[in-house]
Amino acid sequence: MHEMALAESIRDLIDAQAAREGFRRVCTVELEIGRLAIVDVPALRFALDIALRDTIAGGAELVIDEPSGQALCMQCSNSVELAQRGDACPDCGGYQLTVTDGDQMRVSGLVVE
Ligand SMILES: [Zn+2]
Repeated sequence: MHEMALAESIRDLIDAQAAREGFRRVCTVELEIGRLAIVDVPALRFALDIALRDTIAGGAELVIDEPSGQALCMQCSNSVELAQRGDACPDCGGYQLTVTDGDQMRVSGLVVE
């Protein structure tokens, strides 16, 4: 399960940061998951619930931001908003699109004490 592997890498990242900065508890984990990232958000929430249990981030609140997708159209050279992968360019109907934003998945912040 892809989301479980993601959840484990987020846990490792939090552990590494805790070791470096010496905080003892994580209250909030802020994540940025672009709309074009191939991540099932409810499944990731569930996986994080399990992966973070018994860690310093156990019971932390998850705040997930889902920025919209942006792409550059090769056909009309416009930068357009893309609701999902595989969609046509809303301006010209072309399919030669290069995703420029909204496919990221990262921890954008931790609220710690
Ligand atoms: Zn276009």
